Amino acid sequence: MAPSLVDAAAALRAAVADLIAADTDTATVAEVVAAMDDVESVRRLLPVAEHRILNRLAADTNPLDYGATTVSKLLAFRLRISTGEASRRLAEAKDLGPRRTLIGQPLDPVLAQTAAAQIDGAINAEHVKIIRGFFATLPDHIDPHTRQAAEADLVRVAREHGPEGLRKAVTLLLALLHPDGTFSDEERHRRRGIVIGKQQADGMSPVTGYLTPEARGTFEALLAKMAAPGMCNPDDVAPVVDGDPEPERAERDTRTPAQRTHDALLAMGRMVLCSGKLGQLNGLPVTVIVSNTLQDLESAAGRPAVTAGGSLLPMPDLIRMASHAHHYLAVFDGHTGQALHLGRTRRCANPAQRIVLHARDRGCTRPGCTVDGYRSQVHHAVADWKDDGQTDVDDLSFACGPDNRMIETTAWRTRKRTDGTTEWIPPPQLDTGQARVNDLHHPERLLRQADEDDDDDPV
Ligand SMILES: [Zn+2]
Repeated sequence: MAPSLVDAAAALRAAVADLIAADTDTATVAEVVAAMDDVESVRRLLPVAEHRILNRLAADTNPLDYGATTVSKLLAFRLRISTGEASRRLAEAKDLGPRRTLIGQPLDPVLAQTAAAQIDGAINAEHVKIIRGFFATLPDHIDPHTRQAAEADLVRVAREHGPEGLRKAVTLLLALLHPDGTFSDEERHRRRGIVIGKQQADGMSPVTGYLTPEARGTFEALLAKMAAPGMCNPDDVAPVVDGDPEPERAERDTRTPAQRTHDALLAMGRMVLCSGKLGQLNGLPVTVIVSNTLQDLESAAGRPAVTAGGSLLPMPDLIRMASHAHHYLAVFDGHTGQALHLGRTRRCANPAQRIVLHARDRGCTRPGCTVDGYRSQVHHAVADWKDDGQTDVDDLSFACGPDNRMIETTAWRTRKRTDGTTEWIPPPQLDTGQARVNDLHHPERLLRQADEDDDDDPV
């Protein structure tokens, strides 16, 4: 005969009280481990008992008798748990506890195989949560036979593996059952993309997007190496970027996985830039080009430097990047526009003139044009090459392809001002007094006071 619920619950409390009172201090390690096993098996079995209790409560209790409008609220008030947790326990009891038909006949649990494994003490709460989560994502059109086969697969994995293994099995099963319809290569191809969002006021940029399985597999392999603890750590005096980090180095690495991924991508980018295999872009080896003025470098509160792509680079980042031998840093005198220093990679050739242009013009010099320096060409601002123009840096300026062609084929003219900026003079019929120099790549000039802007004598 089954014991009464009241007696059994009282015996459980007494047994747990004994366990709490037990002498853990003098127990041997083997005894402690054995006790741990027992506590765990009870922890696994307790929900089985709880499901029966909750199902009875849900079936036959009028919550209003307890001053609650629903059974979950009754549970929440009575047990001082959240209504979310109360609803979860009731739903789990419904899925895994015994049921009865309307006429009182016993009925298998909804997830009968999971419930059986739970009764065996073979799976724990994490397993149950993952399996129930799997069925929650399956749409109604998946037939009962497929559901049962899937449950059998997952319970078999759960009986032998931890939650990590079970999660992998769930992902694979979902891919095989493709409950969202047919996953196709075309669909994946269409959705692929990575967006580096607008640079925010603090200098940071959000990244969003979707990787194809191929891209994921590729980055997975790279990041397994480069984002491992101890690798590419900017907190190290000399970060390890190839070979294996010493174990102590990995141990004192406190970065989050996300931070390690970020640092790995940065290190990989540097490696590609340094490889010398990227060829050229508009006449310069592909590299990071940054410009700044001496005045800003010397001032602690200096304005951020600007990359040739138009991104703002705070001073500490600039100094850190310049310490790597493979970036160009052009330092200018803010008053005369003279190039004072060109730091550059040893690997790359010496196209110093273009560096000067990157630093001085930063992008297409045609007023209002937003094309950045990386995508600009060299233009002979004083006299075109075909008209005996000298390839002297003071005569050169940046122009994007379309604007360079416009100069060659129309009545637009350019000339240099004494401050090194390039002035674009429209054909007379176009001249409406518009700006003649392009300040879009020089936000600091846009903010400059009007009385500072008095130097526009043409050369
Ligand atoms: Zn342009």
